[in-house]
Amino acid sequence: MDTIFAHCSGKGKAGVAVFRISGPDSLSVVLELTKKTKEDLPPRRMVFSKIHDPRDSKLIDEGMVVYFSNKASFTGEESAEIHTHGSLAVIKLLNNTLFSHHKVRLAEPGEFARRAFLNGKFDLTSAEGLADLIEAETEMQHAQAIRQLGGGLAKLYEEWRAKLLDILAYLEAYIDFPEEEIPDEVTNRANELVESLCSSIKEHLTDNRKGERLRDGLKLAIIGKPNVGKSSLLNYLMQRDVAIVSNIAGTTRDIIEGHLDIGGYPMILQDTAGIRDESNDEIEMIGIERARQIHKEADIKLIILEARELIESSNRALSPFSELIDEGTVIICNKVDLLADTSQLPKMIDDNKIVSISVAKEQGLKELMQIISQKAEQLAAPGENPMITRERHRIQLQGALEALEQFKHVEDLILATEDLRMTIRYLSNITGTITADEVLGEIFSKFCIGK
Ligand code: GDP
Repeated sequence: MDTIFAHCSGKGKAGVAVFRISGPDSLSVVLELTKKTKEDLPPRRMVFSKIHDPRDSKLIDEGMVVYFSNKASFTGEESAEIHTHGSLAVIKLLNNTLFSHHKVRLAEPGEFARRAFLNGKFDLTSAEGLADLIEAETEMQHAQAIRQLGGGLAKLYEEWRAKLLDILAYLEAYIDFPEEEIPDEVTNRANELVESLCSSIKEHLTDNRKGERLRDGLKLAIIGKPNVGKSSLLNYLMQRDVAIVSNIAGTTRDIIEGHLDIGGYPMILQDTAGIRDESNDEIEMIGIERARQIHKEADIKLIILEARELIESSNRALSPFSELIDEGTVIICNKVDLLADTSQLPKMIDDNKIVSISVAKEQGLKELMQIISQKAEQLAAPGENPMITRERHRIQLQGALEALEQFKHVEDLILATEDLRMTIRYLSNITGTITADEVLGEIFSKFCIGK
């Protein structure tokens, strides 16, 4: 096994920079760089040291060095860390020194985590949890990632797998003795277990994609006729001027994406604000079609109506948007500051509550933010049970469910046990007990270098 290294703290200037080394030559490389002996570097102790380039003894920096034996390291193999000052020059010099050292090579993205997985330090879902934790930008994403890293999903799938193995062992005993009748209690037990597992997997799968939504970010769209205040609201949400606010319809053509954190939920706001409903311009027509698609696919849809229009047309004001109304829709009435008397404003249209705001006068915006975050909670709040966070899990779970359903319809014992074995294989694919090399490649290549 090669010894690998990487500068694993962030890019750019910082107080401290961390280099990580892992593999059988970790200690010997660190001893060369620090001019220390093995006795000077007891495992898991930070030791202050000068760090040299072993080629010409040039002093690179002074910092802290720590060595881990394979029994107590992240990767499960001998490893070490060098903490230096986070100067760009120091980082460059130490990178060059390690790069030209014949005992180490630069790590590939995710190689440390991949080695940890291969050495049994965690299962695949925990490795994915770790990747999500590194990527997490909001509080709720953090909550989901930390639970998965802690083995929440793995535990659930391992429980199911253990039950299946148990029943499989029981049934297989009768394959070896075909002359013996299988007692009813054995078949009943197997059927009951399969039935209960089928409903657990089904329930786990009918999750409204909550975990994936939280991981990827909820899509948020601002929808409404020209001039109702879409760009103004967008600018308020983004807290910076990303779209041009003007009175001329059709000023925004390119779709801009903004990332927001509302109540701990990640949101992706796609700006279609300036796209008109109708046009003869071919390019604008393409934009209109794209905007319609974005509105349809959004998880949270903010439909803006104008106060005056709402009073005049009442229930009809919402009819152009009827196909967009679902559990993620918020109906907003903007420009309430233009009304002398707001008592005429309807509070509801059909069953939908109307949130009255004035972006210009910054009225009602706090309440609106609260409502958006409540919608996000309904759509993506982490529940009591761990949630599916990737399409990869979903595909394997669907396979497991199909194999289990098949079991119910098979009379032949040999074929039936094969269905159980298939189910176990699908579950094992998720946790990585058996996983093809290319799947590992796909998962770990998403990590950054140094993780
Ligand atoms: P869009 O076409 O829907 O994106 O609308 P804009 O955000 O460009 O707004 C159109 C016009 O309405 C601009 O002149 C805004 O300044 C104005 N406007 C936006 N919100 C309000 C509001 O709450 N009150 C008033 N009085 N004017 C507003």
